[in-house]
Amino acid sequence: MADCLFCKIRDGQIPAELVHRDDHCLAFRDINPAAPVHLLVIPTRHIATLNDLDAEQSAIIGSLFAAIPGIAKAAGVAEGGYRVVANCNADAGQEVFHIHFHLLGGRKLTWPPG
Ligand code: AMP
Ligand code: ZN
Repeated sequence: MADCLFCKIRDGQIPAELVHRDDHCLAFRDINPAAPVHLLVIPTRHIATLNDLDAEQSAIIGSLFAAIPGIAKAAGVAEGGYRVVANCNADAGQEVFHIHFHLLGGRKLTWPPG
């Protein structure tokens, strides 16, 4: 998708600090971290929001979650704990319309989120 920030990161057109890449997803550091570890895990394929998932694409999301434990372990938060969260549309504050999961950790996280 031509105008998508995360597609540009995927394609190397915008720099990012990548921590993981495989056939289905990549993970990189959030530019404005909300926790000591704040990574974004995105599918390689452009899908704008969670509302756009269909049965076939939901398998892609499964492959992201297959990668997440290893990403968390490499980031040093697997044992201590971490949170995975996705924002969908305006009320959740979604700013980038390419599905992404925030992986947050490295401090005690409060609940519920604001
Ligand atoms: P969301 O509000 O769920 O759409 O989250 C978008 C996230 O993307 C925010 O946490 C931003 O800090 C992050 N972000 C925006 N631009 C960049 C960038 N160039 N590199 C890394 N993270 C970014
Ligand atoms: Zn995209």
